Amino acid sequence: MEKVRKSEQQWREQLSPEEYRVTREQGTERAFTGRYWDHKGKGVYRCVCCGEPLFESVTKYDSGSGWPSFWQPVNEDCVAIRQDSSHGMVRTETLCARCDAHLGHVFPDGPAPTGLRYCINSLSLRFDDSAGDGGKA
Ligand code: FE
Repeated sequence: MEKVRKSEQQWREQLSPEEYRVTREQGTERAFTGRYWDHKGKGVYRCVCCGEPLFESVTKYDSGSGWPSFWQPVNEDCVAIRQDSSHGMVRTETLCARCDAHLGHVFPDGPAPTGLRYCINSLSLRFDDSAGDGGKA
């Protein structure tokens, strides 16, 4: 995968202030306030920064957390992880593997078949239904 690298200034010009705060400064949107926590369209959720496809709607589920939740990324290469010890907790941070955008965290309390809960900020995603099935599924 070819990395996307931009300066802080370039990211600021491309993103809204809130998108910048979450994706480039490890921010978090408030639960139940994001554009996708209750979104049910058929399609793919891309990285808001670089456009990489990250999650498909068929793997989205209602975790009750107030953030978009998925049990699996599009593939095993598109989402990177690293340990996050901020805020007095040890969590596993998720990042876009292509541009290092902060996405959210992954927790081991998700549904089958993976048992994982990718808890992702709406502000890190851009929904794309252009490759969807028109809502027939
Ligand atoms: Fe990205």
